[in-house]
Amino acid sequence: MRNDLFNTGKQESLKCPFCGSENLARIIYGLPNFNEKMKKDIDKGKIILGGCCISDFDPHWHCNNCKRYFNFGEENGYN
Ligand SMILES: [Zn+2]
Repeated sequence: MRNDLFNTGKQESLKCPFCGSENLARIIYGLPNFNEKMKKDIDKGKIILGGCCISDFDPHWHCNNCKRYFNFGEENGYN
């Protein structure tokens, strides 16, 4: 399960529901186990650390193109 968070192969097939960009970042909550791959993904904008400041809406994805936050259907029913 944890490994799915960093499955960038899957991530690259996803598109922003607003602008269609594939330049997306996965938002990670809590304290993940940092490793070299994760640091590189953060540097490339593939991963954002969510921290603790999110309220009702907990987005799991951020579009680097239009700067919006969103979820995909498998997580909260978004279509
Ligand atoms: Zn977008």
